[in-house]
Amino acid sequence: MSAPTNSNDAGTTPVKAEPLQFSSNLGYDDYARCVHCGLCLNHCPTYRLWGREADSPRGRIRQMMLVDEGKLAVSETFVTHMDRCLDCRACETVCPSGVEYGKLIEHARGQIEEDYRRPFFSRVARSFFYRKVLPFPRRIAALGRVARIYQRSGLQWLARGSGVLKLSGLADRERLMPVIDREFFFERLGKTFPATGSRRARVAFFAGCVAQVSFTKLNDATVRVLQANGCEVVVPAAQLCCGALCVHAGVRDVAADLARANIKAFMTEPFDAIVTNAAGCGSTLKEYEQLFPAGTAEHSQSNQFRAKVRDVTEFLAELGLVAPLKNLPLRVTYQDSCHLLHGQKISSAPRKLIRAVPGVELVEMALGDQCCGSAGVYNVTETRAALEILTSKMENIRATRAQAIVTANPGCILQLRAGAEIHGTGQEVMHVVQLLDRALM
Ligand code: SF4
Ligand code: SF4
Repeated sequence: MSAPTNSNDAGTTPVKAEPLQFSSNLGYDDYARCVHCGLCLNHCPTYRLWGREADSPRGRIRQMMLVDEGKLAVSETFVTHMDRCLDCRACETVCPSGVEYGKLIEHARGQIEEDYRRPFFSRVARSFFYRKVLPFPRRIAALGRVARIYQRSGLQWLARGSGVLKLSGLADRERLMPVIDREFFFERLGKTFPATGSRRARVAFFAGCVAQVSFTKLNDATVRVLQANGCEVVVPAAQLCCGALCVHAGVRDVAADLARANIKAFMTEPFDAIVTNAAGCGSTLKEYEQLFPAGTAEHSQSNQFRAKVRDVTEFLAELGLVAPLKNLPLRVTYQDSCHLLHGQKISSAPRKLIRAVPGVELVEMALGDQCCGSAGVYNVTETRAALEILTSKMENIRATRAQAIVTANPGCILQLRAGAEIHGTGQEVMHVVQLLDRALM
């Protein structure tokens, strides 16, 4: 796959916005739907944190509209306010006017990618990660192996103990690094896992990218739970990263390439569903059509593809659990993953599955619908804000006295595990399907 470079890489000063060069399918009405009522403000984590209009949904929409009209430059200030947004889409859920904020912020970030020259290190890091690593599974695996050596050889212990991470300002970021598995899920690509008992569905499993080196156990648990509930699970070999991180970063050309590859990989057979256990991936897979101009063949293929995509909780709740489950005496709380709740509007399916496990008590936390601060790579790029958001989250979790935190997205699992460690709450953090897997007889 080609990974094109940013063609607009000249000049160091902010530039006035030109008509967009990438597919956006956005029009004036998409901004004008915002009637400035402010009902979204208190649901926005960054507004709650800083209390500034420019870091609120309403303020950001206003800035985007001015940029789109050519009345405001794509300046450092504009980029800062857009970068600080978590793209959690909590504002979208509460908006009475139906503003599709996710579309707007992703469009704005695409515009920044085209029109703004970021500082040198940021440009190099972004180009390496989004263009040279994410689209290439072998490179993800190679980096995973290097990271595992760092974590297992004593180097991590040395780096943490010597204070070098603190001195270089990397201590918090390093703590959020995923633990790399011994065995990678990449080895399962191309395999088919039979249904237990009579087959109720034949599904294709979307395995993620970084998840294949750091969430192998979660992916294995997902396959087992699907099998136990009568699903034959196919793991298409040609699948690639879903492109969510690229979409959130505005790297839409690479995201479109990844979408094309995945549509080709998954539409070769008439599966009953394309199942994912990552809410962030699912949200993007269901919105692939936004990457292609309306009326094109790719746009209509995306619509056929998205009609098959299901979050694993959504799919299992619809299908109905048939696998016998043992008693699991556990008090748990559920953290809504933003891209499941706000991106896909799914809230009852995961709760239904949690309550289906005998012995499990589900206690709702206050503000469970608020982002945990993970937000893709937000906890790496905006670490301080992410940790402040996490602090409030952990206070609400602590108040539930839950023994375990259950959620529906690998990124949230990483963030909440870091939260449990930093704040000493000691809870185990797991995905809904890992809870089901543990209860399987
Ligand atoms: S985004 Fe929606 S809720 Fe927020 S100010 Fe605009 S219309 Fe009101
Ligand atoms: S997406 Fe989240 S952080 Fe961004 S404006 Fe909306 S509520 Fe605020």
